[in-house]
Amino acid sequence: MTENDRLGGLDHGKVIAALLVVAIHTAPLASLDADLDFLLTGILARTAVPFFLMITGYFLLPPYLFGSSGNYPAIWRFIKKMLLLYGLASMIYFPINIYAGRLQGIDLPDLLRMLIFDGSFYHLWYLPAAVLGVMFLVLIGRKLPFKLVFMIALILYGLGLLGDSYYGFIAGSGLLNKIYQAMFQVFSYTRNGIFYTPVFLAMGAGLKIKNSSCPTVGIAAGFIISTALLFWEGMTLHYLGVQRHNSMYMALLPTMYFLFQMILRLDISPKRSLRTISVWVYIIHPLFIILLRVMEKFTHTEQIFIANSIMHYLMVCFLSFAFAVAMQNFLPDNAASRIKYHSSATEKVTGKTGRAWIEIDRNNLQKNVRALQSLLPANCQLMPAVKANAYGHGAVLIAEELNRLGVNSFCVATVSEGIELRRNGIKGDILILGYTYPKQFALLHKYNLTQTVLDSSYARLLNSCGQKIKVHLKIDTGMHRLGERAESIDDIEKMFHMTNLVIDGAFTHLCVAEAKTTPGREYTLKQIYSFFNTVNVLKKQGCDCKKVHLLASYGLLNYPEYAGDYARVGIALYGVLSDRADVANCPINLLPVLSVKARVAITKDLYAGEAAGYGLQYVAESKRKIAVLSIGYADGISRSLSCGNGQVLLHGTAAPIIGRICMDQMLVDVTNIPDVQSGDIAVVIGRSGEREISVYDLAEASNTITNEVLSRLGSRLERMLC
Ligand SMILES: *Cc1c(COP(=O)(O)O)cnc(C)c1O
Repeated sequence: MTENDRLGGLDHGKVIAALLVVAIHTAPLASLDADLDFLLTGILARTAVPFFLMITGYFLLPPYLFGSSGNYPAIWRFIKKMLLLYGLASMIYFPINIYAGRLQGIDLPDLLRMLIFDGSFYHLWYLPAAVLGVMFLVLIGRKLPFKLVFMIALILYGLGLLGDSYYGFIAGSGLLNKIYQAMFQVFSYTRNGIFYTPVFLAMGAGLKIKNSSCPTVGIAAGFIISTALLFWEGMTLHYLGVQRHNSMYMALLPTMYFLFQMILRLDISPKRSLRTISVWVYIIHPLFIILLRVMEKFTHTEQIFIANSIMHYLMVCFLSFAFAVAMQNFLPDNAASRIKYHSSATEKVTGKTGRAWIEIDRNNLQKNVRALQSLLPANCQLMPAVKANAYGHGAVLIAEELNRLGVNSFCVATVSEGIELRRNGIKGDILILGYTYPKQFALLHKYNLTQTVLDSSYARLLNSCGQKIKVHLKIDTGMHRLGERAESIDDIEKMFHMTNLVIDGAFTHLCVAEAKTTPGREYTLKQIYSFFNTVNVLKKQGCDCKKVHLLASYGLLNYPEYAGDYARVGIALYGVLSDRADVANCPINLLPVLSVKARVAITKDLYAGEAAGYGLQYVAESKRKIAVLSIGYADGISRSLSCGNGQVLLHGTAAPIIGRICMDQMLVDVTNIPDVQSGDIAVVIGRSGEREISVYDLAEASNTITNEVLSRLGSRLERMLC
C-alpha cells in the first residue's frame, strides 16, 4: 500500500471527527439518557480534537522534530493560515458575542485570555491552541531530540489533567489548588496550546517517522483495550464528580496512538474535498445551533426539539454540511483546504527510508566553519559559496545550518538559486556571482539579492532597468572571465554615477591561488596588487567600493593576509580540497561533510560465463553473487566508474562496481561479503566500519576534481542532517 492510499482514512476520519465535535456541542443523546450522553460527548467525542491535532503533527512537524530539514516558511504558512481562519471565524461570531454581552466591560487581560487561550467563541480555542502547540514544539524541537520533546509534552499533558478531569483530587489540597487557581486566571481551561495540544501534535509527527511494524491485530487489540480503559476512566471520574472539565484523560493517549495507526492502515482512496468540508463544519456549526434555537423559539417548537435531541443534532449536522459543501463549490481552492495538508510536499519518503540519499554531518560542517574562521583576519567574514545546491550538499539545508552558526552572507551562481534560499527563509546578504538575464532584473529587487556587475556594458543594462539594485562590481585582474578590466578605471568610475546601482562591494577572482610554484605565486600576487590598486585609485577619486573580497577556498588557505572583508569559501567548507595532493599543505584540518548511501535492491547469483548489465561488459569468470544498488548516473554517480573503476562499501568491505553504471542502478560484486541482502545500505561516499571511500577516490577514478563530483550529485537524492 502506498503512502497515498492511507490518506483516505485520514480524510474520512476528519468528517467523523467533525460529526463528533458537533455532538459535543448539541448533546444528541441528552433526551434519551444522561449517562449515555456523557459516554458520547464527555468521552467518545473527546477523540475528535486529538485526531485533528495528530493530522497536523503528522504532515507538518516531522522535518522540524527529526533532523530538521524543515524550512521555516512551512511553519509560517501554517501559522498564517490558521490565524487567517481564526480572524475570519472571529468575525462571523463577533455580532453574537456583542449580542450576548460577552465583550462588555472586558479589559486587556480578559481579551488576551480570550484570544490566546479560550478562543473568541467557545469552539474556536482550537485554532490558537494548535498554533501555540506547533510553535512550542518547533522551538524546543530545534535543540532537543524527539524523545525529550515528547517527554516534555507528556509532562505538560499530565499537569493539564490535574486542571481538567482530575481537578477534584487537588481541589482539596491548599498549595496545588492555589497554583491551579492562579493558572486559571490566565486561561479558563488547561485544555489549551500549552498543556493539551503539544502531546498530540508530537504523537502525530512521531507516527509519521516511526511506522510501527506491529501486526494489525496487535494494533486493534491495543485500541480495544485502551478504549475500554478510556470509558472506564471517564465514567469513574464522572461518577466521582471530580471533573472540572472533560477533555483530558490518561487513556486518551494510548487510544489515539492505536486509533491513528489503525486509520493509517485503512485502504481507502484519498478524498481531498472532505478536508475542506470538515474544516467548515467545525467553524460554522455553532452558528447553526444558534439559528435553530432562534427558529424554534419563533415557531414555538422548542419543546419538540428538546424532547428529541437527536433530531436537533441531525438538523445541525445537515445545515453545517450543506453550508460546507456550498463553500467548497464556491471557493474550490480556498485557504482552508490547504491548512491541514499544505505540507503534503513533505509527503516524499523522509528519513533513511528511501532508495538512496545524502547524509550531512552538521558537526563536521560546524568544525569546518570554525577552522576557516580561525584563518580570517579581524573584520573579515565568511561568505560561503552555496551555489550548485551547495556543491551537492543541499543549498537550503546548508544555508539554514550556516544561518544558525551565525553566518549571514552567501554567494550563489544564479538568480534562481538566490530565490530558492529566500523562499526558504534564509537571512542575510546573497550575492549572485554570475549572469542574470535583464528580464529577470526585477527579481533581484523583489528577493533582495545582490547582483554582480559583469562589466561596464552590463552596468548600463542594470542601471536602465528602472529600479534600485544592490550590486558588487566584478574586477578582472587576470582570470579573463567575468569582470571589468582592472585598468579601466574611468569605466568603473562611471558605474559609481549610475543612479540605480547601489554599490555595496567590489571583488575579483584568483585563478591560480592553489599553485605553490613561483610563477603561480607571482601571478596571484600580481592579481592581488592589481585589485587593491584599482580599489585605492577609485577611493582617491571619491568612489568608495565599500566591501572588498577576492579569496575563495585556496585563496584563504594560501593568502589569508589579503582577505579584505569577505572570504568566498566553497569547497573547503565542505571539508575537502579540489585535489588530494593539496591536503598536505593545508594549514587547518578539514572534515568531510557529506556521505552518499544507497540501498541494495536485490542480490542475485551469477553462474560462470553469464554476463551482467548493458553491453555485456561484465562476464562472470566463476560463480558470483552480485547486488543491485538503487543509485545510478542520474543521481550523479559518474558513469566512468563503471567496470571496476569504482567501488562501494558494504558491511565495511569494498565491493567493486561491475558492468556499466545505469541511469538509476548499478551492480556490485558481493561474492566475498557475507550476508548481503535486499535493503542493506551501501556506502558510495563515506565511512563504513573501518573503511572509507572519499570524494577524492571518486574524483581520481573519474579523472576530475572533487568540486565536480560533489556538484553533480543529483536532485533525486534526499539530503538530510545527521
Ligand atoms: C565558486 C566560486 C567561489 C568558491 O570557490 P571555492 O574554490 O569552491 O572556494 C568563489 N568565488 C567565485 C567567483 C566563484 O565562482
